[in-house]
Amino acid sequence: MSGRTVGHLSRSHPLAEVAGRHCAGHLGSLRHSAIGQVACGECWERAIRDDERVAVEFGLATEPPDPAYIDEIAVERACRYGDRVTLTAAERAEAVRRLHAGGMGVGAIGEQLAIAGTKVLDILAGLAQAIPLVPVPVHGEPSEVAS
Ligand SMILES: [Zn+2]
Repeated sequence: MSGRTVGHLSRSHPLAEVAGRHCAGHLGSLRHSAIGQVACGECWERAIRDDERVAVEFGLATEPPDPAYIDEIAVERACRYGDRVTLTAAERAEAVRRLHAGGMGVGAIGEQLAIAGTKVLDILAGLAQAIPLVPVPVHGEPSEVAS
């Protein structure tokens, strides 16, 4: 495929040295015509793939932290034990949602999570907008409403 954008593969790429080393053996002086004047496509690919494998092996995050990520343990500790754990906005909202779903009042939720009642109301208002209030019915499933 010609015309593919490979602009990000250059000497300043963090894996340029690795890719270049892979390539030095078989391209030799032709390297100046390689992608980013560093390495051929195959060697770039090998360097990048090896790097990903290392990241997976050592459990390193390959992506920046997701602001929507929820630390279940932190939320659990805050909800159940009232621990003063540091929660992200997403985690605090999840904690409010759970306590509210459990029947806890706004004031009690605020005390449990050490936040103002007005903040709890803000979060609940945000949740009401973000989450459909009526669960989507699943076709073929019997209603779970007990008779
Ligand atoms: Zn190569």
